[in-house]
Amino acid sequence: MRIAAIQKTTLLDFPGRVACVVFTQGCRYDCYYCHNRSMVPGTEKEFCIQNLKLVPGTNLFSFLTSRVGLLQGVVVSGGEPTEHEDLPEFVDGIKQLGFQVKLDTNGSSPKMVDELLSHKLVDYVSLDVKAPWNRYREICGGRADSDTVEQTLHLLQRLSIDWEVRTTVCPTLDEYDMRKISHQIGQVPIWRWNSYRIPQLYKESDADRVMATCASVETVRTWANKLQVVHRKIIVA
Ligand code: SF4
Repeated sequence: MRIAAIQKTTLLDFPGRVACVVFTQGCRYDCYYCHNRSMVPGTEKEFCIQNLKLVPGTNLFSFLTSRVGLLQGVVVSGGEPTEHEDLPEFVDGIKQLGFQVKLDTNGSSPKMVDELLSHKLVDYVSLDVKAPWNRYREICGGRADSDTVEQTLHLLQRLSIDWEVRTTVCPTLDEYDMRKISHQIGQVPIWRWNSYRIPQLYKESDADRVMATCASVETVRTWANKLQVVHRKIIVA
């Protein structure tokens, strides 16, 4: 497991729990608005990120041991955690300390999510659905595969686990796109719409869409109100 960073406390990222966040290093996607460029291999060179230091696993587990009784949960985020083959063992170690675990995933590995859930290693899943299926590669890069995201979505819909879908309302998504995503996800417990923030690092070739004007929060709320349905709560964050 390659760990890029730890956020020691969060009240926002794991619903109902005081938690910390572990950021794993590495992601096959290449979302143009990614805020974790330094965790995406292959882009370090382009952005001159030198000497990227990883957090040793022993440091993480010493930290977690010191937080037993103080924190209730650990959010495993990224990068993309499911790209790490040793994720089940890693999460098992966290669970053995008594923490609940939330997984943030882009949905690229339904097989890994299935393995984690079938061994009851995860208590909450946050699945990114970043675009209408037909626009996935345009927004998330050439290696993104909407089929795997759809498989992960259907897997979560079949199980009784706490989970949610997240979408960043980036400048290239409009009301029509959000309607298409609404149609493609169907019923989900929570659909969280994250506000767009301009990333510090981005490719020069993406400058136009990174800096494009985004719909205002008021406009986005009107879109959301039209798409609220039974068995689905939309949270505009
Ligand atoms: S899936 Fe997440 S970590 Fe990966 S490129 Fe997209 S925003 Fe960045």
